[in-house]
Amino acid sequence: MAAEIIDGKAFAAGLRSRVAAGVAAMKEAHGLTPGLAVVLVGEDPASQVYVRNKGRQTVECGMLSFEHRLSAEASEAEILDTVARLNADPQVHGILVQLPLPAHVDAEKVINSIDPAKDVDGFHISNAGLLATGQKAMVPCTPLGCLMMLRDRLGSLSGLHAVVIGRSNIVGKPMAALLLRESCTVTVVHSRSRDIEALCRQADILVAAVGRPRMVTADWVKPGATVIDVGINRIDAGEGKTRLVGDVDFDSVAPVAGAITPVPGGVGPMTIACLLANTLTACARANGLPEPEGLAA
Ligand code: NDP
Repeated sequence: MAAEIIDGKAFAAGLRSRVAAGVAAMKEAHGLTPGLAVVLVGEDPASQVYVRNKGRQTVECGMLSFEHRLSAEASEAEILDTVARLNADPQVHGILVQLPLPAHVDAEKVINSIDPAKDVDGFHISNAGLLATGQKAMVPCTPLGCLMMLRDRLGSLSGLHAVVIGRSNIVGKPMAALLLRESCTVTVVHSRSRDIEALCRQADILVAAVGRPRMVTADWVKPGATVIDVGINRIDAGEGKTRLVGDVDFDSVAPVAGAITPVPGGVGPMTIACLLANTLTACARANGLPEPEGLAA
């Protein structure tokens, strides 16, 4: 039987409407408008598209959107100064510094200069530590989106075996921490792991966050498993064209899996939606208000 296709686009649209309703309620009851500031350094085309989409979706949800564009030559001190001003700005509840930063800038230093309460990307060392120790944190958007889709499909994840391929700080590690918090048995595999296929075949939940086009094939997947494909890879489609594929070979895996996210249209759309959810959550926490339900991890 063919897998259920998890429609991330529709899921993200639903999440954005819930965020918009939460923003409207916050304005009505407390006269507060959540605000998200994005800092973009340089002219990387992909980052520019991403930042533009974020700005548009932020406004569509009824939030304030602030954009700070700095040249590729901006000094580290200038970027730190921009972040410091945003930290102090009461209209700003969420701050996102678009990565990658130019090579002359210490990205970790910049990220760790963000007020952890406004760190809606969840990359600050304090938030990583809070998540790792099972405390209330700002959770990185991509794994948060994956978790929401998994909960929606599976309900309780307790006792399930989850295998996460990839151990990056922005996807693999926080994904593993979240799944552990859900009482999954978690295995993390990476480029040095042995016999990855056999480990993956044990998974009830398989999350691929690698950056290798169509690496996961049908023989890596247990029949009926839920497969979440985080990968975004641009490949040559012939005739001078390119197309996006995931880390999972969708065509071979879909007939085996119980459910699967497509690329595009799976995890990708959830990432910005979760950023908006995190901004609303950050605004509620900053003002000592109850958090809107179902938006945080
Ligand atoms: P990184 O490059 O930071 O991490 C990749 C991970 O994959 C590393 O842990 C690496 O292992 C592991 N890896 C590499 N090759 C292999 C292999 N052959 N077998 C097993 N593991 C391997 O990538 P990110 O985590 O940032 O991103 C992963 C993918 O997700 C990318 O395609 C990226 O574009 C996409 N992405 C999508 C997002 C979305 O919104 N949908 C958001 C963020 C990322 P090691 O640590 O040993 O090097």
